[in-house]
Amino acid sequence: MKVCKFGGTSMANAEQIRKVCQIVTSDPERKVVVVSAPGKRFDKDTKITDMLIDCAEKYLKNKDYESILSSIVLRYSEIARDLNLDDEVMRDIESNLRTRVQMGYDSDAKFLDRMKAAGEDNAARLVAQYLRKIGHRTHYVNPKDVGLFLSDEFGNARVLPQSFKNLTKLKEMDGIVVFPGFFGYSLSGDVVTFSRGGSDITGSILSAALEVQVYENFTDVDSVFVANPRIIKNPAAISELTYREMRELSYAGFTVLHEETLEPVFQRGIPVNIRNTNNPDAPGTLITPVRSQGFDIPLSGIAGDKGFCSININKYMMNREIGFGRKVLQILEEEFVPFEHMPSGIDDISIIVRTQHLDSDKKSRIMERISKELRVDSVSFEYDLALVMVVGEGMKHRIGVTTRVSKALAEKSINIRMINQGSSEVSIMFGVNEADVDRAVIAIYEEFFADGNECEN
Ligand code: ASP
Repeated sequence: MKVCKFGGTSMANAEQIRKVCQIVTSDPERKVVVVSAPGKRFDKDTKITDMLIDCAEKYLKNKDYESILSSIVLRYSEIARDLNLDDEVMRDIESNLRTRVQMGYDSDAKFLDRMKAAGEDNAARLVAQYLRKIGHRTHYVNPKDVGLFLSDEFGNARVLPQSFKNLTKLKEMDGIVVFPGFFGYSLSGDVVTFSRGGSDITGSILSAALEVQVYENFTDVDSVFVANPRIIKNPAAISELTYREMRELSYAGFTVLHEETLEPVFQRGIPVNIRNTNNPDAPGTLITPVRSQGFDIPLSGIAGDKGFCSININKYMMNREIGFGRKVLQILEEEFVPFEHMPSGIDDISIIVRTQHLDSDKKSRIMERISKELRVDSVSFEYDLALVMVVGEGMKHRIGVTTRVSKALAEKSINIRMINQGSSEVSIMFGVNEADVDRAVIAIYEEFFADGNECEN
């Protein structure tokens, strides 16, 4: 049995949905289909999820939301019409959307999640209808019906452990199951969504619960690439990656999979196959617990991500002070600021955080508390930090990778602000100025993959 998940571009219009259904029905093992909301049909288009967020925000601010709601209804009607579905399907979708707006709510966050979830929910209803119409026994399954329970962290939920057992009920259903991605229910019955792009997580949870042979994640590219194709023209494709490599790359900006996707399948060793809806014959990229080939090149991927800040703390004889690190992190914890990395020296320590978690009030409080409570010699915040990650199981025990990266960066006059390597030796992180991040990725690509071409934009 396989779970296959289709992303927003695979759901964008009737033509794409036909491709989805063709893929699903061409393999009897593809029993469970997870769908995203219709995404962009062309570059400047708007995703249904963004339209739903816009609609919800207008409603919450007492602004006119009717025209955006009508545009959402229109997007679905066009798809339904082009799939030759009955008018009743559209009436149901419109009433589903209007009911969500009109139902009461006791917090903006709950309302927002209920609206966001409408994108995938109605997409799943459409796909199920179409599959039935073309003669396949199909069930639309709502996450509530089978107990996909999530924590009540609205907009950023996590799966609750009992869901895995509950979801095994799906095995008993005959025919194809179409399941909306991106949301589940809290124990008190509210709709809760994962963070953006979270349909990938739904697919992974279902794959783990059903212990499938493979989780197929269909998107709009033939494979995962060594570097972002927006930075490098025609980058090399990756045929196999380990969970660890993929996790590190998605953390540092590879958007092909949601960063939290792999956890449920990782626990059970289920492989993930990234594939292209527009080119279903391409084998795609296989993500597995261990890989057997491709160690001739030390790097599997190069990622770069902006938006980091370094909190630099200096205190003479810091190394002798037991508990210093804990106390700093406790201050961050009390301010709800997650930390990403913590490179350190003898008398200094830097805490790397994502800038989005720091507003100016938090920054002042953190600075004051570190100064006063830890009596440090200096504390400063350094912004505009980007992280470039070079990732690869092939780096393990291989001498000279850092030298080659540093040399490549030096030749392009890129200053390295920080280096960090974990004990797993699967990734090395280089901190550079945000303005240098793309040039850094290009320089490293050229060093390891020789014929890299910089994109013009
Ligand atoms: N539709 C949601 C989003 O745009 C979730 C997803 O597509 O995975 O974020």
